[in-house]
Amino acid sequence: MNTYWKKKSQEEIKTRVFDALAQNVNYKEENLLGIPATHLDEKVFNQDASFLKDAPFITSLVQNPNHIGCHTLGKSESAFSGTHEIEKELIEMCSVDILKGEPLQNDGYIASGGTEGNIQAIWIYRNYFMEVENADRDEICLICSEDSHYSMYKAGNLLSIPVYKVPVGENNRQISEEGLTKVLLQAKQDGKKYFIVVCNMMTTMFGSVDEVNDFVKPLEALDCTYKLHVDGAYGGFYYPFSDENSQLTFKNEKITSFSLDAHKMAQAPYGTGVFMIRKGFMKYANTQEASYVEGEDFTLIGSRSGANVIATWMILSKHGPYGWSEKVYILQRRTQWLCGHLADLGIEYYRHPMSNIVTIKNHSIDSEVAKRFGLVPDNHKNPKWLKIVVMEHVTIEKLMLLLDAIKKSQVELVS
Ligand SMILES: *Cc1c(COP(=O)(O)O)cnc(C)c1O
Repeated sequence: MNTYWKKKSQEEIKTRVFDALAQNVNYKEENLLGIPATHLDEKVFNQDASFLKDAPFITSLVQNPNHIGCHTLGKSESAFSGTHEIEKELIEMCSVDILKGEPLQNDGYIASGGTEGNIQAIWIYRNYFMEVENADRDEICLICSEDSHYSMYKAGNLLSIPVYKVPVGENNRQISEEGLTKVLLQAKQDGKKYFIVVCNMMTTMFGSVDEVNDFVKPLEALDCTYKLHVDGAYGGFYYPFSDENSQLTFKNEKITSFSLDAHKMAQAPYGTGVFMIRKGFMKYANTQEASYVEGEDFTLIGSRSGANVIATWMILSKHGPYGWSEKVYILQRRTQWLCGHLADLGIEYYRHPMSNIVTIKNHSIDSEVAKRFGLVPDNHKNPKWLKIVVMEHVTIEKLMLLLDAIKKSQVELVS
């Protein structure tokens, strides 16, 4: 049963958002002279009340609340306390109702996306190892699969820690315990003693999901000190619904944090990711020098838009948890349908059974057809794989056109 996430009517959504905005500062009616914040430029953006009265998201864009800082712990900017409450609720919806955590046991904030969420996690663990375990920075490394997102390499570069990639099987896209063991032994030989490990909840190119125990077993067998983050940037609003038996939840005490993107499968505006971490860890990313911010700043980004928070809260509230499951169910069925037809045509592909990404071997499909339908390569210079992502707009009617084109190209090849 859901604790925080409930389906709401459009009227209820509107009331809640307008009430929250009313509790934020009103620049026109109050004397607030000291913060570098105001509404959007009214010469450019229509602020006519009649135009906005049924539009809670546009109204929040126009009022432009700043959600700087992390609102699940300590104090926050009081000028925007109304919409900060919506953010706290959204973090609980995601950490409790989607990721099966306990109420009020996790901190989090709406980050700019998966890249920031991943960097935030890795930054926290690096500092945690240095502060709590007295680690030298040289003794810390990052471990992830070779299918992990490139944000791992950004994090490694920014935080000056090396990234060790664990190879995956060519056709199953899974790491193996032996493969990881080899990498860990090499890292130990290089003097690494503290391991920041990132496990994928659907990879960008393949939609593959890492088995968390494939990481945990070798790490523990080799007595490694580690922290485990889950990159759910792609899969966070999909996989928890397609796989009821997901092991990637807060119920697994080996996992400390998650990042999800609302701007991918949840169809929220760009600039919206969800970062969540167990209580007690945010403090390792505190910047005490952020003294002008009420409550200081525990996040990577600084100022950020409250409108994105409201958009995501509205999307989840409108569908409700059952509506969301149905949405994912439909995409799952479409993906299955596509895979059945590709198999009939003898096309070689990879698909994780709980995912809506189908990745076709490049040699298996005519390159002109792939180009015409905008399939995305793993590598633009020398592609080995091309993917189809079954999004909301990728309907069976559209997939049918692709299948017809493939058939036609195969006939031409034979004749
Ligand atoms: C998209 C993606 C990211 C990066 O997310 P941005 O929102 O583009 O910053 C990280 N990890 C995975 C698995 C992704 O699919």
